[in-house]
This record gives sequence, structure tokens and C-alpha cells, in this order.
Amino acid sequence: MKYLVLFVVVIVGLMLFKKSQRQRSAPGVRKSTQLPAPEPMHACRHCGVHVPQSRCVWKGDKPYCCSDHARLG
Ligand SMILES: [Zn+2]
Repeated sequence: MKYLVLFVVVIVGLMLFKKSQRQRSAPGVRKSTQLPAPEPMHACRHCGVHVPQSRCVWKGDKPYCCSDHARLG
């Protein structure tokens, strides 16, 4: 009888441990699926630094990394 109680306690402990691990790993999986979509990169026509499209300074159809480089050409 003593071993049966010990066996039940161990089983319940393992179930709680697995449940807590599942809850801990779930947000990590959700985080990785919420990554922003990849964005095209453009090389600055002045210095060659690659800049995300949303942060480019455009002069005509040429991308630049900053307004100074856009002015210098
Ligand atoms: Zn530049």
C-alpha cells in the first residue's frame, strides 16, 4: 500500500512537470511565428551599406542610407 501511494505521487508529479514544460515552450513557438516578414535590402549608392527598404532615402530611383549620402550622390 505504501508503494502504491508513492507510485501515484510520482505519476502526478511527472504529469504536472510535463504540463508546465508544455506551457513554457508554447509562447516560444508563438514568438517565432510572429517574426516580421523579410524586407528587401538595398545598397546605398554612395557608401554601399545595405539598408532595409523602409529606411532607405530615395533620390529618384536610387537608394541611399541617409539624406547626406543622397545629397552627395
Ligand atoms: Zn550611404
